[in-house]
Amino acid sequence: MPELPEVETIRRQLSGKIVGKKLNGKKISNIRRRAKVLIINFKDGSSLVFHLKLTGQLIFSGKPSKHTRKIFKFDDGSHLIFNDARKFGWWKEVKDTKKIEEKFGPEALEISLKEFKDALEKRPNAKIKPLLIDQGLIAGIGNIYSDEILFTSKVHPLRQSKTLKNEEIRRIHKNIRKILKDAIKHMGSSVQYYLDACGRKGDYVKHHKVYQKEGEKCPRRDGGIIRRIKLGGRSARFCPRCQL
Ligand SMILES: [Zn+2]
Repeated sequence: MPELPEVETIRRQLSGKIVGKKLNGKKISNIRRRAKVLIINFKDGSSLVFHLKLTGQLIFSGKPSKHTRKIFKFDDGSHLIFNDARKFGWWKEVKDTKKIEEKFGPEALEISLKEFKDALEKRPNAKIKPLLIDQGLIAGIGNIYSDEILFTSKVHPLRQSKTLKNEEIRRIHKNIRKILKDAIKHMGSSVQYYLDACGRKGDYVKHHKVYQKEGEKCPRRDGGIIRRIKLGGRSARFCPRCQL
């Protein structure tokens, strides 16, 4: 599923292409992102909101295919297509975005160390991997980047938040920003369906250390083999040698 870096990549690209254009007679004033949600704001105060969910793609000037669910046409003749092979994604026009945004915690790229500690303290018995992807606590991180953040931080995904030392919390907090920024630089991760707004793949996949690397040697060369464990409806990948 596209996470913060993928949606942010699309936001930046689309900002340069469609801000100032008109859609159905309404002028686009800016494009924002909240968590994994993309928000096109119109000058009249209303918004067009997208969630790509598992397989959504937003491609400017894209060629329609059998997975195209909607074509948005701008006043200058250009267009944006919304593809969604598995049809879990959605878009809707809303008067204001308050209802959609109020359920999210602080943005992952903006959360302060204090806010992060507070979020962990709210759920002392919960495990760190599901905490990182709980959008109500921290907004924007999903399965890929939580695995990469915990590997970089040398923290085991099943650690209960109350057992984390201050130093470990600081490391995770720092690496949330580091990993997400790196991924944005590489236009995100194209694991399955994700394409950016220009129809290109994001190549952060090449930089993944543990995500979908089960069975491979740990890149720290510590003799560990990357493992995958089930965790609720998801899975976590980690190195049992260096993630404690
Ligand atoms: Zn290792």
